[in-house]
Amino acid sequence: MEIKQSEFVTSAVSLNQYPIDSMLEIAFVGRSNVGKSSLINNLTNRRKLVKVSGTPGKTRLVNFFIINNSFYFVDLPGYGYAKVSKVEQATWGKTIETYLLNRPQLKKIMLLVDSRHKPTEDDIIMYNWIKHYGYESTIIATKCDKIKKSEMAKSIKTIRETLGMSAEEKIIFYSTLKKIGKEQVLDDIELSLNGEML
Ligand code: GDP
Repeated sequence: MEIKQSEFVTSAVSLNQYPIDSMLEIAFVGRSNVGKSSLINNLTNRRKLVKVSGTPGKTRLVNFFIINNSFYFVDLPGYGYAKVSKVEQATWGKTIETYLLNRPQLKKIMLLVDSRHKPTEDDIIMYNWIKHYGYESTIIATKCDKIKKSEMAKSIKTIRETLGMSAEEKIIFYSTLKKIGKEQVLDDIELSLNGEML
């Protein structure tokens, strides 16, 4: 699949602000600063579709982008930023939960984790949340230009074990700098949309 068209549609906090059509959705979620904005920009061949955050933890909204005029990328707010207050964290939880509870058109959640580190407590909670609500997921291990080829097998093992992933779930290494993983992610998205948007 190639992304030929992408456009920001709306930002939402509550349910009544979501787009009202029922086009399929692919959501992206991860710890603040994991590289989510860079990845969405890279997938869509846009430099500034999503604003790369100067201040991590600032974005508290669910952002919808229309892709190829036929489905949505949904950019969920980043979590785990240390300087965010408890109240703000609770708001984040509510925002995400509202979305996850009400999205029959959501086909898959791409969970981004940093390939250099063991997934955090927040990553584990997010992963379990995805499973709890019964969504499909693919794990994307970001910034893989920062690890050596020889460290990749260990990184996969750590991610799999820490999250408690099942064998059939994929991990895709990604680097926006070295352009690694883009085809694989786009293929994976295409597969989960099942040709419905082509
Ligand atoms: P977000 O907060 O998850 O949206 O993360 P951003 O996309 O804003 O990226 C956070 C920081 O990581 C920025 O300084 C990016 O330049 C950097 N970054 C993003 N992707 C990569 C990557 O693939 N490799 C490296 N080395 N740095 C990256």
